[in-house]
Amino acid sequence: MQNYQANIHTLKEKVILVTGAGDGIGRVAAINFAKHGATVILLGKTVDKLECVYDEIVALGGAKPAIVPLDLQGASKQNYRDLASTIENEFGRLDGLLNNAGILGSLGPLEFFCVSTFEKIMKVNVTAQAVLTKYMFPILRKSDNASVIFTSSSVGRKGRAHWGAYAISKFAVEGMMQTWADEVEKTNIRVNCINPGATLTKMRDSAYPGEDKTTLATPESLMPTYLYMMSDDSVDKNGQSVDAQ
Ligand code: NDP
Repeated sequence: MQNYQANIHTLKEKVILVTGAGDGIGRVAAINFAKHGATVILLGKTVDKLECVYDEIVALGGAKPAIVPLDLQGASKQNYRDLASTIENEFGRLDGLLNNAGILGSLGPLEFFCVSTFEKIMKVNVTAQAVLTKYMFPILRKSDNASVIFTSSSVGRKGRAHWGAYAISKFAVEGMMQTWADEVEKTNIRVNCINPGATLTKMRDSAYPGEDKTTLATPESLMPTYLYMMSDDSVDKNGQSVDAQ
């Protein structure tokens, strides 16, 4: 799937919600989904960044996106309910959900972790994604083929010293994906994970500030996998954790 060549109409008429759409991998995924025909719903924390992505998509001739400013740290059940009913009223259904937004927190030995940072990481990386997915489920059921993608990490598959709450949150994401996937088996919804691998973004820079950036994959280079997993070409995939590199 890393070599997948998407047709320009691969995502035509699909309505796709991307979290963390203002920056990094989410930004590039949202633009690529729009380039391939989707109407994208851009959810993120910083409105200015979402507006830049909106302008970029419109300038490329993509379908007019929707912007949802929402801080997943403080979002309430009512925020998610309102979002689901707005999407239902506007589009009638949801065909794709990319749970991409995430935070790294601070790295260091578990023995000394900061409890409030731990809770923040779990809220954004795990709880918010579970709750968002739960409230999107009724409108995902209205799609012919809906794809839900969670964002994993290598440190969510094998524990690594000093990756603390971030690593624990990504293990939880893998488990959440498998649990959803088992429940939706043989329905119109499929649920999978993508592990982007080391990618040149602000998050990577904060984890490894001194590294040689030229060795890193760009968000753009991951897009064949993101397009494949969001397209109907992956309808038979469910419960898998795939690598984008
Ligand atoms: P970035 O830090 O570049 O982007 C993260 C995005 O998430 C931003 O758009 C940010 O919005 C948004 N976000 C963060 N907190 C919140 C919040 N509370 N509410 C709403 N949106 C929020 O990260 P990446 O693009 O690198 O990471 C994307 C995903 O890929 C993450 O889940 C990460 O864990 C995962 N990943 C990344 C790897 C890498 O090497 N880059 C490797 C493995 C996994 P804003 O800019 O407004 O703060």
